[in-house]
Amino acid sequence: MKDMSFTLTEEQRALKAAVYELCKQYPPEYWRELDAKREYPDAFINELTKAGYLAALIPHEYGGAGLGIVEGGLILEEINRSGGNAGACHAQMYIMGTVLRHGSDAQKNMYLPKIATGELRLQAFGVTEPNSGSDTTKLQTTAIRKGDRYIVNGQKMFISRVLQSDLMLLLARTTPVDQVKKKTDGLSVFLVDIRGLKGFEVRPLRMMMNHSTNALFFDNVEIPADSLIGQEGKGFSYILDGMNAERILVASDSLGDGRWFIEKAVAYSSQRVIFGRPIGANQGVQFPIAKAHMAIEAADLMRTKAAKLFDAGEPCGPEANMAKYLAAEAAWDAGNACIDAHGGYGYAEEYDVERKFREARLYKTAPINNNLVMAYVGEHVLGMPRSY
Ligand SMILES: Cc1cc2nc3c(=O)[nH]c(=O)nc-3n(C[C@H](O)[C@H](O)[C@H](O)COP(=O)(O)OP(=O)(O)OC[C@H]3O[C@@H](n4cnc5c(N)ncnc54)[C@H](O)[C@@H]3O)c2cc1C
Repeated sequence: MKDMSFTLTEEQRALKAAVYELCKQYPPEYWRELDAKREYPDAFINELTKAGYLAALIPHEYGGAGLGIVEGGLILEEINRSGGNAGACHAQMYIMGTVLRHGSDAQKNMYLPKIATGELRLQAFGVTEPNSGSDTTKLQTTAIRKGDRYIVNGQKMFISRVLQSDLMLLLARTTPVDQVKKKTDGLSVFLVDIRGLKGFEVRPLRMMMNHSTNALFFDNVEIPADSLIGQEGKGFSYILDGMNAERILVASDSLGDGRWFIEKAVAYSSQRVIFGRPIGANQGVQFPIAKAHMAIEAADLMRTKAAKLFDAGEPCGPEANMAKYLAAEAAWDAGNACIDAHGGYGYAEEYDVERKFREARLYKTAPINNNLVMAYVGEHVLGMPRSY
């Protein structure tokens, strides 16, 4: 077993500081303006890519930094702690793992070095559909093999960053559900080059927060057969494989949000004087902030445990799921404490609290809603009866 201590190494502390420094060049006004226009943070993402942070998890042999999920999480956490939104780029870190673990050597050699330099962007992950939602195995998008191509038909819902990506990881059914033994069989994963793809339509959705999210339509879209990752029909297990990384990284987004809320609430409530004293001296203001801080610190312990187990190659499903749940809930409580501490100013755009509040809310719902995390813990950790 590798190191399971909770102190950061000197290199990890330096990484955090360097990311935070880069983020500070993108002040609140930058994020506020993009939020109002629902535009993608191109300049920020380009700089992050150039600095190599988005290639943190890509092994050295493919031009990345060869770091672990611990470091990946620290990078995302610092982006959100600085007031930014790592939702613009977090997926590249966890999608890439599917290609790394299950892609052929040809696929890895072709794509990973270009993803590492930023020449190719892999930010889109197409799973959710209008009629299946959380019940992934019921998805209806089909990919039917015809010679050296697959023909894709169907719809996807809430797929983020498609317009900012060159490549998309797509989950589709290659064998009808009534022809497989288990409903998890017959699903396949494709790494699709979506540039100029015929029959592929992207309809942007205006969401509660700036998240570059879209509805997708596939109308007899032809993709080369060598877009298939691994074996046909085994895609669901490949996606599941990547989920622990996804949970840990999204927990890190939430931890960054929570820390931002707490820092902001402490600063504001310590200087705002009402009834002749700082409002932060009142227990009604102070205690929810202190409580949120404790919850964030506790969630951080679980995130760190999950990340260290992941990097050591140990099973970490329970820890990764619990970290995602605990961090999303803690960030939400911190957001509420922060908005309460700010009174009316918490609702004013120029204070950024309302923007971060909207952004932090997402992680209670996506990429998996917290009810399903509880169902996982009930069933798989505690051995209780299955609810779905
Ligand atoms: C901004 C945004 C970005 C997203 N980006 C992506 C993306 O890039 N790629 C992608 O594939 N998806 C993406 N999603 C989709 C997201 O993963 C789904 O919204 C989420 O998985 C839930 O699916 P659903 O919305 O269809 O809800 P449903 O599955 O319809 O569930 C609705 C609610 O019912 C409850 N529920 C359902 N079943 C149960 C049960 N058995 N027990 C208890 N409660 C239950 C849940 O609490 C849930 O919140 C995104 C969503 C949003 C909002």
